[in-house]
Amino acid sequence: MTYDRSAVMRAVKGRDTAPEMTVRAMLRTIAPGYRLHRADLPGKPDIAYGRKKLAIFVHGCFWHGHDCARGARMPKTNADYWVAKIARNRARDEAAVAALTAMGWRSVAVYECELKAPASVRARLEEALTVAALAERGGRGRARLDAAEPGRTRPAAASTGLRRP
Ligand SMILES: [Zn+2]
Repeated sequence: MTYDRSAVMRAVKGRDTAPEMTVRAMLRTIAPGYRLHRADLPGKPDIAYGRKKLAIFVHGCFWHGHDCARGARMPKTNADYWVAKIARNRARDEAAVAALTAMGWRSVAVYECELKAPASVRARLEEALTVAALAERGGRGRARLDAAEPGRTRPAAASTGLRRP
């Protein structure tokens, strides 16, 4: 039996997955110049635009407990283990988004099932990039103000598809 060790490692680490490659291919045509898996940012976002302060996470529905058919499916063996593991993943996702927000970053989460409708994902990413670019040009003072008021809700983040798991 042959097996692709690097594919196994990718699956384990959750990076360079097929959905991630799809989103990266999409972004190459919209806005190249992103960086991958920046270890210096909370949650090591799959994709990050440094100057625009925009982080994009591409999530597998099962691993990140997405509210969809795939996300709801649970292995029958060791169900408790998987429930706990996915809850930890979700808590980690949430903490990463909160930490990024505190640093003045915006976050977008794309779930693998959403890629069945690539046009709507593309539209969300374009909108997020536009909002981030406007903030980059005009909002340096405002970004500091926002950071000083961590409790405030931000309509901009909501409209770019920020998801609270
Ligand atoms: Zn899903």
